[in-house]
Formats: sequence, structure tokens, C-alpha cells
Amino acid sequence: MLTVETYQTIQQAAGALHGRSRYLGGGTLVMRAVNYADQDFDHLVRTRDPNLRAIQIEGARIRIGAGCTMADIIGAADTAFLAPVARAIGGPAIRNMATVGGNLFAPHPYGDLATALLALDGIARLTDGSEQPVEALLATRNQIRGLATSITVVRPMGDDFRFLKVSRVKPKGVSVMSIAVWTPRSGGRISGARVAYGAMGPTPLRAKAAERALEGATRDRSGIAAALAVATDGLSPADDSLASAWYRREVAPVHLRRVLLGEDDTR
Ligand SMILES: Cc1cc2nc3c(=O)[nH]c(=O)nc-3n(C[C@H](O)[C@H](O)[C@H](O)COP(=O)(O)OP(=O)(O)OC[C@H]3O[C@@H](n4cnc5c(N)ncnc54)[C@H](O)[C@@H]3O)c2cc1C
Repeated sequence: MLTVETYQTIQQAAGALHGRSRYLGGGTLVMRAVNYADQDFDHLVRTRDPNLRAIQIEGARIRIGAGCTMADIIGAADTAFLAPVARAIGGPAIRNMATVGGNLFAPHPYGDLATALLALDGIARLTDGSEQPVEALLATRNQIRGLATSITVVRPMGDDFRFLKVSRVKPKGVSVMSIAVWTPRSGGRISGARVAYGAMGPTPLRAKAAERALEGATRDRSGIAAALAVATDGLSPADDSLASAWYRREVAPVHLRRVLLGEDDTR
């Protein structure tokens, strides 16, 4: 028998979790597991905490509630820079339910928004009040106790942030890979670039060799050449029904070039 409990706050919901529980965000994945009679859990915990849907500017950063849906991201003027990412996730029914928090915990090949949050220096706040870089959260997400309440990211300037989703079925297919790049510039040269890939490892990952190669470069064909040469260093793509690891590695530099030069982004 499956029991469902609803709590007023996410902190209370976190306190009610035990080994046979799942937290229910938008439920796009959890309810699918219920429908497939997943025997790993028999207890669902949810909350109607309104704070989870808040979007708030904090200086150069923006705080996005973990319960915000993809539709919320698309609809809010302050998150317009993330709208192309949210729009690339599933179809309208999924976007109305799928949450930001759930995307951080969605298994491969999902996690398109998490890839963008990783590129934008995301920092997650957890129910115990602690904060963790999205990179660390993704690396340890199977062991994390507690729930994510919100995530802050930088608010990118102009076209410093770009996102590309590569899928076989358009517009709703899941990712063969997704790429998010944030390339702030100083005096025309890239300074502090972040490059993140989705579906190129067990979780969204940063391409740190490419980031290092972009430091001080101009964002043009010759400037980015060194980054393309190391585009997949440190990544570990899977062989799956969407694409082989070999194929993913072969095409990753091509797509990185496109997204860096703005040749083929999804906006
Ligand atoms: C048909 C279909 C198409 C999809 N297409 C895409 C796609 O194109 N791109 C993509 O990235 N994803 C896709 N997804 C996957 C999924 O919809 C999204 O990743 C979504 O953001 C998950 O959020 P959710 O709120 O629905 O998660 P849920 O199903 O509620 O939860 C998923 C997991 O996250 C955990 N979780 C949820 N919220 C929190 C929180 N605040 N803190 C800690 N843990 C939490 C849950 O306990 C659970 O383990 C698709 C799914 C389906 C069914």
C-alpha cells in the first residue's frame, strides 16, 4: 500500500522522510515510478510550501525556489535567460509539473536545467539551511539527506549565457547531450568561463579542461579552438539507446563550437 503525506513546510516534509519514502516534487518521474509499481518505496511525502515557488533577485544573483516549475521559469521576466532551457524540457504537460529541484535529482539522460544551473555557478540551499554548490550536490546527490529548497545562480549579462540541447526527436526528445556555457568577458576576453554538459556522464558535469582553455580567449573561431580540442576531457558519456559514447564524444566539440559562437542555440 502507498501512503501519501502532505506537510505545510518543506522542512517538515524532509523530517518525515525515511528509507522507504520518496519526496514528491512535480512528480513527473516519481509518479511514473508509482505507475510502474516501483517496490523501492511505499511512502510519498509532499508539501504545499509557497516559499518553494518564489523567485527573488539577490544583487548579481537570483534565487529560484526548488518548487518552481519549468512553466514558472518561462513565465517570469526575471528568469528570461533560463526560459530557452525550460522550454527545451519535455512537452507542455511535463513543463507544467517538472520542478527545478526535481531536475537536480533526475537521472541520466535528464537534467537539462541542472546543466544550466551548473554552468551559472548554481548554489543550492538545503532544508537544514546549509548551502552547497550545485556541482557538489550533483556529485553526492544519492547520499544527500534533506531536500533542496532553492538555488541561486548568477544573472548573466547580454549573451554571456547560452544553451544548446541536442536530441534526436524535436522538439520534445530527451537529450543526446545538452551544453550550457557562461562566458563572462572583460576587455573582450573571456574571464571565468563555465562549460557544463548534460548526458555526458552519470550527472551533468563541468568540462574543466575546456573552461581553462577559454580563459583569456576571445569568443571567436580562433579563440575557442584550444577549448574545442579538449572539449570532452574529464567527461564519461554512456552508451545507451540514444547514442553511443563514441558518437557523443565525436560530436561534442562540434556542438560546443556552435553554442560558444551562437551558431545554433535554442533561443
Ligand atoms: C515524458 C517525459 C519527458 C521528459 N523530458 C525531459 C527533458 O527533456 N529534460 C529533462 O531534463 N528532464 C526531462 N524529464 C524528466 C523530468 O520531468 C524532469 O527532470 C523534472 O524536472 C523532474 O522534476 P519533478 O519535480 O517532476 O521530479 P519528481 O518526479 O517529483 O522527483 C524526481 C526525483 O527528485 C527528487 N526531488 C524532487 N524535488 C526535490 C527537492 N526539492 N529536493 C530533493 N529531491 C527532490 C524526488 O524525490 C525524486 O527522487 C522528462 C520526464 C518525462 C516523464
